[in-house]
Amino acid sequence: MTVEAQKETLDFQAEVSQVLNLVIRSLYSNKEIFLRELISNASDAAEKLRFEALTDEALFEEDPELKVRVTYDKEAGTLTISDNGIGMSRQDVTETIGTIASSGTRKFFEAMSGDQAKDSELIGQFGVGFYSAFIVADKVTLKTRRAGLGHEHGVQWVSEGQGSYSIENIDKPSRGTDVILHLREDENEFLEGFRLRNIISKFSDHITMPVEMEKEFYGEDEEKPETAEYERVNTGTALWMRSRSEISDEEYNEFYKHVSHDFEDPLLHVHNRVEGNNEYTALLFVPARAPFDLWDRDQKHGVKLFVRRVFIMDEAEKLMPRYMRFVKGVVDSDDLPLNVSREILQHNRKIDTIRQANVKRVLGALEKLAENDKEKYQEFWDQFGKVLKEGPAEDFANKEKISALLRFASTHNEQDEQTVSLADYVARMREGQDKIYYITADSAAAARFSPHLEVLKKKGIEVLLLSDRVDEWLVTSLTEFDGKSLQSVAKGELDLGELEDKEEQESQEQQAEEHKALLDRMQQVLQESVKEIRISQRLTDSPACLVVEEHDMSANLARVLKSVGQDAPQTKPIMEVNATHPLVVQLENEADEERFGDLSKVLFDQAQLAEGGQLDDPAAFVRRLNSLMLKLAGQ
Ligand code: ADP
Ligand code: MG
Repeated sequence: MTVEAQKETLDFQAEVSQVLNLVIRSLYSNKEIFLRELISNASDAAEKLRFEALTDEALFEEDPELKVRVTYDKEAGTLTISDNGIGMSRQDVTETIGTIASSGTRKFFEAMSGDQAKDSELIGQFGVGFYSAFIVADKVTLKTRRAGLGHEHGVQWVSEGQGSYSIENIDKPSRGTDVILHLREDENEFLEGFRLRNIISKFSDHITMPVEMEKEFYGEDEEKPETAEYERVNTGTALWMRSRSEISDEEYNEFYKHVSHDFEDPLLHVHNRVEGNNEYTALLFVPARAPFDLWDRDQKHGVKLFVRRVFIMDEAEKLMPRYMRFVKGVVDSDDLPLNVSREILQHNRKIDTIRQANVKRVLGALEKLAENDKEKYQEFWDQFGKVLKEGPAEDFANKEKISALLRFASTHNEQDEQTVSLADYVARMREGQDKIYYITADSAAAARFSPHLEVLKKKGIEVLLLSDRVDEWLVTSLTEFDGKSLQSVAKGELDLGELEDKEEQESQEQQAEEHKALLDRMQQVLQESVKEIRISQRLTDSPACLVVEEHDMSANLARVLKSVGQDAPQTKPIMEVNATHPLVVQLENEADEERFGDLSKVLFDQAQLAEGGQLDDPAAFVRRLNSLMLKLAGQ
């Protein structure tokens, strides 16, 4: 016996045990879903074999009829789900069954609240597949052999779901996997053929792989044969091939759960059949809730590719652009070759056409939702808005359509949760206003209360409040909407165009002249930190603020880059001061150079703090502030 064959008993990852307990507790009310999960795994394994066998026929091992079988043994109290699919090697088993994909697990635990009701909802999105067996079983035995390996490379995995499992090599003549559930005492309902048939047709009808059970209901004129006869239980018509009018919402929802591993109904679906020289069917879903790995860079895309009803591959990233990575579903092509590989997909015109059309369909469906059901659209936006914001940069051709779907917090509303569209904004623009004003900051509050907004607030001009990280990238590609350019209120000279009257403009020029001496003096003190000091047109209440030049990187973006460990170019800001503010007046009259210096630096640091920035030398700021306060107090 080789060392490999020896029986080992291993502990689950700590997380696995916790997930297991949570799964059992929280999914119990819906316990029959374990069968869907196990049949779905078995069917996936068979599909994988079919795909690999396209290039290596020997994998069929003279057993080319792929299928899933469900059998039960009343006396032993076991229920077995078998497949003659791809199977697993010993390493496959330890890697996939003893662990949970690590990034998913981490996020799951970050999101866990300890509140059982909430956490059970999370379980749904997390997708616990195989582990759902422990809802009804107190022991699970898995016997498997990877296709193409010799009989002696079979593997047996046994666990009672209590923190450890054993694994050993066994002899397994037949290829594929048997999952044997030793049912808990009170789960005898899953040892009834009728009940099992019901569950299978409810959950697995649309699985194209045959799901078989032993024939046990014989007619009066039929004779029960000596050896077991098997019959197909699921109808296996690919749901997406049926016509829309024949499919109920419930069937759509059930199918969605099958393809997405989600436990909740989807938000919406689009289902289309396209005829012509590139024939295909697409059935796409937008989930109701964002999955855990939405922000995972390696996140798999959710659209499965079929060719003439045969499953080809999962996670085909060519089928949806990155900014639509939340879309789940199926594309079934009549025209692609069966042995299509990822490489072929990369440069396939047919695939490109399919993707473009599908993107338009999803955008169209979202547009309709936004029009007809604002509340539901807002739910979509709360879940996936940040992803959609990647769209204008990624998909130039659909920029207009995507822009119309964007939503932002705005000074028009009191609450950050209330959002406006760009069209709403444009419709409300003041007479003479020709720009869409926005501010970026790293929190909603920092945006809403930024000093940069003061004069616009006073004049009643709406400003969009952008505080998602992705917003900085969004505004680099979304530069106009409906012919109006987007303008940051923290960049360049604030040009209010027609919104400013002649008098105001003149008084500004005059002010710059009047306060030239002050500005020069401040420039002396702050020359290390700022490019220029000028009189502000933005401020009404605050003494000072910082702006950058039109084409410089915004301070917020520089902070975002720094926080993710990237270099940001060191651009000095321009400091603007409010000449009518009492502190600035005070400064102007300050004869003591040291005090002038302290006060100027404090104003600069305050301006940084007010826009959510961090001070290079916070201790120096505190020291200066304290000394100024003491002087005020007459000490
Ligand atoms: P998921 O199906 O979402 O990947 P599961 O927990 O259901 O998650 O399954 C985990 C993994 O275990 C699968 O991805 C697959 O690699 C492996 N697996 C489970 N069941 C089988 C099976 N019957 N045949 C081959 N591999 C399987
Ligand atoms: Mg699964």
